[in-house]
Amino acid sequence: MGAETNGNLEFLSKIPEIKFTKLFINGEFVDSVSGKTFETIDPRTGEVIAGVAEGDKEDVDLAVKAARHAFDHGPWPRLPGTARRKILLKFADLIDEHAEELAALESIDAGKLFGWGKAVEIPGTAENVRYYAGAADKIHGETLKMSSAHQGYTLREPIGVVGHIIPWNFPSTMFLLKVSPALAAGCTMVVKPAEQTPLNALYFAHLAKLAGIPDGVLNVITGYGTTAGAAISSHMDIDKISFTGSTEVGRLILQAAATSNLKAVTLELGGKSPLIIFDDADVDQAAELALLGNLFNKGEICVAASRVFVQEGIYDQLVKKLAEKAKTWTVGDPFDPKVDKEQYDKVLSYIEHGKREGATLLTGGKPCGAKGYFIEPTVFTDVKDNMMIAKDEIFGPVMSLMKFKTVEEAIQRANATRYGLAAGVLTKDINVANTVSRSIRAGTIWINTYFAFDKDAPFGGYKMSGFGRDLGAQGLEQYLQVKSVVTPIYNSPWL
Ligand code: NAD
Repeated sequence: MGAETNGNLEFLSKIPEIKFTKLFINGEFVDSVSGKTFETIDPRTGEVIAGVAEGDKEDVDLAVKAARHAFDHGPWPRLPGTARRKILLKFADLIDEHAEELAALESIDAGKLFGWGKAVEIPGTAENVRYYAGAADKIHGETLKMSSAHQGYTLREPIGVVGHIIPWNFPSTMFLLKVSPALAAGCTMVVKPAEQTPLNALYFAHLAKLAGIPDGVLNVITGYGTTAGAAISSHMDIDKISFTGSTEVGRLILQAAATSNLKAVTLELGGKSPLIIFDDADVDQAAELALLGNLFNKGEICVAASRVFVQEGIYDQLVKKLAEKAKTWTVGDPFDPKVDKEQYDKVLSYIEHGKREGATLLTGGKPCGAKGYFIEPTVFTDVKDNMMIAKDEIFGPVMSLMKFKTVEEAIQRANATRYGLAAGVLTKDINVANTVSRSIRAGTIWINTYFAFDKDAPFGGYKMSGFGRDLGAQGLEQYLQVKSVVTPIYNSPWL
């Protein structure tokens, strides 16, 4: 925590001026049509940071109109890929230049560690823009080997106007994870950040304009899910929705798409990811990864390793190690996690359920810290697969430990969930690692590591964790569609 704490001391002298609080439509910051605003709150203090324009259906209509016009008539989709690449590279450089201000904004709006934001998250978002900038001039179709007397080829064209709806847990990462490939593909878009964390999205919009992204290409509507978000998902002139958030809201978005214009949908949803620790794993590393997998971002991460399956030979050792190590995790740093009363109550109620259902509380389980809504790192042992704490996504620092005997049993129990976002496997046996990786129905498998995200590795869910992929080459595909072009061929020397 040392470097992070230093980062936060540095942050104290850099509390940013809030420059952008209005909707960003067609290259301008504008008030909402209704004139309404909502308050964005500093989660560390509960104080209001700023009033932010509250976008609603009418504002979404204006933003979609701008995006539609920019797509149908504007330069962006028609530019050579090399030109889009150049502008995106400039955008990435501007993000780097403003990393300190962006990190500070994210600290006050989302409660993130300033040092981490400045050194890791914001530079990471710039790298994501660069990754897709590099892809912008490499989008091409295929020549087809037709079985009739025709010649054919495919074009890969931008899908059109995209609606991005994103959550609060990683506001900057999510914004650029969605926006970068869509921009590289030549799409235009309307982005709705989460109502809890609207500020960085508006700042990024400002930087995009400075970089030369034409008006109307990137629009940002701040506001609530049930109003602005619902207006985006049911809009007749949006061609694609890319959503990250809860499974419940994902279902609503799919319904809205189905009953409006059958727009394409990508859903990145919740998870209940297993971490499977085999007898031959290093106990220290296993305990560290299990804690990291559950406590990073206070457990408020879709890929939290909230079901830890431990093989019987290492179980007692690991329980002992976890009990020691859990106590060394610092909580209650007001600069650390996003603190939210509703979420706090929900996590505590899951802990009560765990106790009532007969799981053993190894450590934690109580609120902690004098200020804010903090919960101790909590570890339950003797958890059964059908207990609520083993089935539901808690989105908090609560780990469930479960004992298993064989590889087959671990696979079967790890797969016994409606989710399929990620899984971890800790073993020195390459054959076991391979068998488990291929057997687990999840979009990402981490072997002898956890949270190893990389912009080159596609990320997304199996089962009720969603469909479609962010990141990697697959991330770009979400914003492209394929067109076949066929023409007769006469007097060809061969077919
Ligand atoms: P959420 O589903 O409540 O909200 C996400 C976004 O959807 C917000 O912008 C919100 O305003 C909007 N929204 C809410 N209701 C809507 C509606 N009716 N129509 C359209 N939009 C609506 O999720 P959250 O609480 O912000 O985030 C936590 C959830 O997100 C967890 O379940 C977590 O697992 C998931 N998540 C998934 C990933 C992933 O990549 N799979 C990443 C981060 C978070």
